[in-house]
Formats: sequence, C-alpha cells, structure tokens
Amino acid sequence: MSPALFRLVRHLGAVVAALATIAVSAGAAPAGTAPHHRDGRFQNNYVEFEPKGIAALLTWRMEAARAGVPKPPQQATPRVVADVAFLRSNAVAGAAMVPSLTWIGHASTLIQAGGANILTDPIFSERASPLGFVGPKRHLPPGLALDELPHIDAVVISHNHYDHLDEASVKALAAQAGGPPLFVVPLGLKAWFADAGIGNAIELDWWQSARIGAVEIVLTPVQHWSGRSLTDRMATLWGGYAIFAPDFQVFFAGDTAYSKDFADIHAHFAARQGAGRGFDLALIPVGAYEPRWFMSAQHVDPAEAVRIHQDLAAERSIGIHWGTFQLTDEPLDEPPQALARAAREAGLGDDAFTVMAVGATRRFAPRAP
Ligand code: ZN
Ligand code: ZN
Repeated sequence: MSPALFRLVRHLGAVVAALATIAVSAGAAPAGTAPHHRDGRFQNNYVEFEPKGIAALLTWRMEAARAGVPKPPQQATPRVVADVAFLRSNAVAGAAMVPSLTWIGHASTLIQAGGANILTDPIFSERASPLGFVGPKRHLPPGLALDELPHIDAVVISHNHYDHLDEASVKALAAQAGGPPLFVVPLGLKAWFADAGIGNAIELDWWQSARIGAVEIVLTPVQHWSGRSLTDRMATLWGGYAIFAPDFQVFFAGDTAYSKDFADIHAHFAARQGAGRGFDLALIPVGAYEPRWFMSAQHVDPAEAVRIHQDLAAERSIGIHWGTFQLTDEPLDEPPQALARAAREAGLGDDAFTVMAVGATRRFAPRAP
C-alpha cells in the first residue's frame, strides 16, 4: 500500500472507530429560561453553534491524509522533573501557601492558592478516547503522576470532551486517600458523575459559583460545545472558571473559540478586580487549531489566544492545550512558536504570555491589595 493510501485508510479507521463508540447517554435537560438553554440542549452566547457532522469530519480527515498532515514535531514537548517536595509542603501551608501553577500536560494543571489544591481537567490516561486502544495517544507522560499529587481539594471540569473529562482519572481522584475532592462541573454533568459512582459533584450554570474554603470558583461562558457521543451533543454545558483566592485570581479557559465572552468576563468581574486590573494568571488554550475552516468556531489559534489575554487584562497568561495529544493538523510543537510570534506582534512584554515545560511549577507573588 502506498504511504498516502495507508494514511488515508488509517484516518478512516479512526473515524469508524469513533463512530462505533456511540454510547446512549442522555444529558440532563437544562432547567431555566436563560438564552443559552435551548430545548434540552445548550447554546453559545455569540454563535448559533452546530457541531460539525460526519461529512465535514470525513472531508477534514481525507484532506489531512492527502496533505500528509500533521507533520511530526521537530522538537519534543519540554518536560522537567516536578518539584513534588515543594508542592506537598505548600499544600499544607494554609494561609502561608505560595500561589503556584504546575502544568501536568494538555489542559491539566495544579493550582495552589488560598490554602486549596485545585486540579483543572485532569487526564492521566494513555489516550484521550472512550476506548483504550484507539484515539489520540500521549506523546509524553503527565508532569505529575496521580500518586505524586498533594491531597486535592477541588477538581474543575470545563466540559465533557474526552481530553478534558477522563473517567479513569476522576475515579482515581475520587478514591484519593483522605476523601474525595469536590468536583465542580457545568450543568448536566452531575448525573454523569453519579453514574460513575462519584457523589461529590456540584454542577453550575454560567456565573454560578461554588466555594472551597477561602476560594470561590465561578463558571463562566466560553464558546465551545459538548458531547461524548453522537447522541448527546450540547446536552451538557461547557465553560471556563474564574478562581478567586484571597491573594490570587486565576482564569482557566478550558477549551474555547474566540468570542466576545472574554470582554464580558472582564466586565463582569471589574468591580471585584479593580480599575484596569484583571486576573493574576490566565490559562488559555493555544493548540488544536488547524484546519481553521473546521476548528475556528471551537478552538482559538495562538493569535486569538493573545486577544483573550488582552480582553481579560490578565497580568500573565500561560498557554495550555498543546504538546501532549495530537488532535489536529498543526505539528505538536508549533503552538509555542506561533504564540511567541503573536505575542510579539501584539506588543506584549516578554513574559506576559508564555508556555511552560510539562512538570514545571511557577510560583507567583500574592496579589497586591
Ligand atoms: Zn472540547
Ligand atoms: Zn480539548
């Protein structure tokens, strides 16, 4: 078989495998009359979003196979040995906790702030897929292993796509020594957690909040969608999280396209953040953006990520959602280069919006009053 034909067959095989996983999972019908609640489904604020159908998916995969993309990365995703001793001692420092951010890989991060240890979209599994033997496979191990984590107080889930909500990972976290964390999830996902045997979940609508100790966690709109099969598209909500500790404010964007939602988020929290100020740290996706005709309504590219950083007036941003799983057509190592170019063109300072090595921890000065 010619290499091109082989690639085409492999791509089609992946599509067929994806179709074979149609699970019957009814999403909870949303209550309420907000504009983003529609006939038992959810919708975005600024587009009438229609998840792409099978024909578009096949066109994308066939074009990619024909073009021979994604090309393999030239450079491995940077990875360092995590400073587990610091994370563990910081975890129990209470009011003296140093605000910190550790990149575990993809959209999985550990946030330490306000005396709480918070995980975002944890995935420790080998594949981001409903099946163990097919689907996007890790290019490198997580920056922290499950058994290296400090006791986790809260886990925030942005939406139910497989690269953000991993069943094995949340089950392992629910079984951690010392009791399960609080799982903070968007509307409609509490039932999924209950089905997985996890009772300690609280589901939020956009702008609703949960509290863990001194930390408030608010679900915000972003432009995306949800679905783990062909039958449950947009049946559960998606979003980003604004996390307010007394001395550190973080925004986790999850998975998102560019939209006016970020200007709205900045305006919504303006009174709380003070004139001209935004989050101390924003975690913004910078990968999984090619081809634009397929991806632009659901995933930002690095230039749009820079606009989000600006709309939020974030002090610092870190690019996530790249380097671990090959989900789309750009090479795995392209996002940091494209981000650096976009940040330069936008006139940002050198350290305003950067990426980290997997496993690295960055410490932050507490927010000035
Ligand atoms: Zn997604
Ligand atoms: Zn994603």
